[in-house]
Amino acid sequence: MNEAIGALKEIFGDARVDTNVDRYLNDITEAPRGQADIVVQPRTADEVVAAMGLAHAHGLPVTPVVAGYNVAGLAIPRNGGIVLDLTLMDRIIEVNHDAMYVVVEPGVTFGQLKAHLDAEAPELVYSYPFAPPFTSVLANALLDGLNNLSLRHGAMGQWINGVEAVLPDGTVVRTGAGAVVDSWFGRAPLPDLTGLFVSTQGTTGVVTSAALQLQPKPPHRARWFAFAYDLAHAHAAMTALARTGSFDDVGLMTWPAAKMLFGATRDLARAEDEPLAFLFIDVTGASEMELDARTAMARRMLGEAGVESIFAVEDLVRLVPRYAKLAELPTTLDFLLDYPGGGLTWVGAYGPGGRWLEGAEKGLQLLEEHGFPPFLVARPMAGGHFYVLRFVVCFDKADPVEVDRVRAVMGQTADLVLDHGYVPYKASADAARRILARAHPGFTELWTRVRGLLDPDHRMNPGRW
Ligand SMILES: Cc1cc2nc3c(=O)[nH]c(=O)nc-3n(C[C@H](O)[C@H](O)[C@H](O)COP(=O)(O)OP(=O)(O)OC[C@H]3O[C@@H](n4cnc5c(N)ncnc54)[C@H](O)[C@@H]3O)c2cc1C
Repeated sequence: MNEAIGALKEIFGDARVDTNVDRYLNDITEAPRGQADIVVQPRTADEVVAAMGLAHAHGLPVTPVVAGYNVAGLAIPRNGGIVLDLTLMDRIIEVNHDAMYVVVEPGVTFGQLKAHLDAEAPELVYSYPFAPPFTSVLANALLDGLNNLSLRHGAMGQWINGVEAVLPDGTVVRTGAGAVVDSWFGRAPLPDLTGLFVSTQGTTGVVTSAALQLQPKPPHRARWFAFAYDLAHAHAAMTALARTGSFDDVGLMTWPAAKMLFGATRDLARAEDEPLAFLFIDVTGASEMELDARTAMARRMLGEAGVESIFAVEDLVRLVPRYAKLAELPTTLDFLLDYPGGGLTWVGAYGPGGRWLEGAEKGLQLLEEHGFPPFLVARPMAGGHFYVLRFVVCFDKADPVEVDRVRAVMGQTADLVLDHGYVPYKASADAARRILARAHPGFTELWTRVRGLLDPDHRMNPGRW
């Protein structure tokens, strides 16, 4: 290790190599404290190659990280070695207006990308999560995240047109059209090697840049909120709206989110006449007429599904300024991040719409049985081909008894969603174990072989999958 530290200092200089790794060993979740020897902060892809080559030569583990806000403990180093902090690699390399993509390095944040596109490509838009503006656009795509255009265009892994990556032995590779021609227009029609880096949580290599799709930005946009008094009506509304293909986003949060938005923390209670969930519906149009027609359709379909109270977000924000946080993404949901004791975790999963209602009801019941508020976030994805179930828990990280309760309920929630045909995304180490325990042996065999080929010593982000 000492030899490696000396060599790393020669490459990176003292300022970008640090043996004080404390802040990387924890995150906001219930994941146990990690272990690492050194952190390095590359500025360029060549520096990543150098660090990876050195780690390979010395047999050292490497854990890549940007903001560390994946909410599953995925960037906590588990087995010592090098933390590769990629925040300084923050160049937006290209915005391609013609084929509609942007090439970014891993340190580019959602806040940065939005400001850049607003200034340089106002006709185009990316897809934004509820994640804080300081988190990584690329890490979110590599994790197959779910953002505000995922109803139309699917999970974020599908938005990746290709990557440049450094394999565990220091080899530089490329995937997608940009590997062959001077344009990252897509993944088709080549063998789809981009998937080797999607949802693999940094275990197959370090992506140093990626081309991500952009979408045309319609000039007219409105966001609506609607209140639902039971989950069956909410589900009927989401399904009907999703299947029209006419709406940008349709999502759902249950009542604890609303209470917390207003500053409540622990001991949340719902009055009988309060809604169970609120839906948010994003409508866009190339003209005002198109926007109005879609809005009228949304109102009619919500009414038919039994969801009657509908508000334009501007009206709601005028009455209740706190709602502004939900009006524009990316946003900092401080009511989640500043919860007393600082703990935030969830099990989020993708699965079939037909089993959403039962999974949602049982998951909320499970949270309540463990003494946590019934906090659910959901959304139809990819035109309604699949759905999201995300069960959220805020907790006090300093209370070991509460942390144990959180671990227990998260484990059971991962099993519950799997029982309902849902597969956890951004799977924590615990959820990944539960997934692999149920996977077809052929899946596990293929994954074991692929990983064995790329990283035979399991040095990359050890402890995942
Ligand atoms: C309040 C809140 C709301 C959120 N809402 C959403 C949401 O709506 N939708 C959503 O999808 N996510 C959401 N998230 C999760 C998360 O913040 C985002 O997905 C975010 O973009 C992850 O970025 P990060 O910088 O935190 O990644 P990190 O946690 O730093 O990294 C994530 C993973 O990717 C690996 N990794 C990072 N960079 C590379 C690389 N270059 N090459 C290979 N592997 C790499 C890491 O090792 C780790 O396993 C939310 C988080 C919070 C706290």
